[in-house]
Amino acid sequence: MTAPVVLIIEDEAQVRLFLRTALSAAGYRVVEAERGAEAATLARSHNPALVLLDLGLPDADGITVTRALREWSTSPILVISARGREEDKIQALDAGADDYLTKPFGTGELLARIRSALRRSVLSGSANTTVVEVEGVRIDMERRVVTRDGIEVHLKPTEYNLLALLAKNAGKVMTYGQILKEVWGPGAVTHTHYVRVQMAELRKKLECDPAQPAFLITEAGVGYRLRA
Ligand code: CA
Repeated sequence: MTAPVVLIIEDEAQVRLFLRTALSAAGYRVVEAERGAEAATLARSHNPALVLLDLGLPDADGITVTRALREWSTSPILVISARGREEDKIQALDAGADDYLTKPFGTGELLARIRSALRRSVLSGSANTTVVEVEGVRIDMERRVVTRDGIEVHLKPTEYNLLALLAKNAGKVMTYGQILKEVWGPGAVTHTHYVRVQMAELRKKLECDPAQPAFLITEAGVGYRLRA
C-alpha cells in the first residue's frame, strides 16, 4: 500500500519544515508549495488524501484557494491560521474547508486532526453512517431515535435536527452559518442565538455536566463540533 499524500501550502519555511518532519515520521508522503498559485496544479498532479492550507499566503488568500479547490476536489482541507482570526476560519469553513488548526499547534494535535479528517472522508465515500455513539449517547439517524445509557431521550424536532447535523459531521467543526442554514433555513443565517439556545437544551438533555460538555464542543467564535 502506498502512503497517503498530504499537500502542504505554507509560505513560512520553518512551519513547512515542522509539518514535513511530523508528517514524514508518521508515514505520510509530503508535497509542498509556498504559494497559493501552485495549489491547484499540485492538487491535480498528486491527488492528495488531504490538503494542509495556510490562510496567510503572500500571493493569494487561503479562502480563495479553498473555494477554487472545492470546485473540483473532494480532498479534505485542513486550514492553518494564526490565533484570533476567527473571521478567516469561519470564511474558510464556509468556503468548504473541513477543519482548522490554530498556530501554534503540536504534532499530536496535527496528526489527530489529520486522522479524523481522513476517517471522515473514507466514511463519506462508503455507505452512509446512520448511527453515531459517543459518551453513552447513541444517535440513530435512520430511526431518528436518541438514547442515553440505553434510555430514549425525547428531543424536540429542532434539537434533533441540530444534533443529527453535528453527528453526520462528527469530528468536524460546523460554523454558526452552516448550522443555521441547514437547520433553520437560508433566511436565518444571522440568528446565532437560535443555535446557542438549542445547544443549551441539548447539553442539558445529553451531557453529564452541561457546563463542561464532553462531546457537544464549543469552537469559540466559530461554531460547534461533535467530538467523535
Ligand atoms: Ca503564512
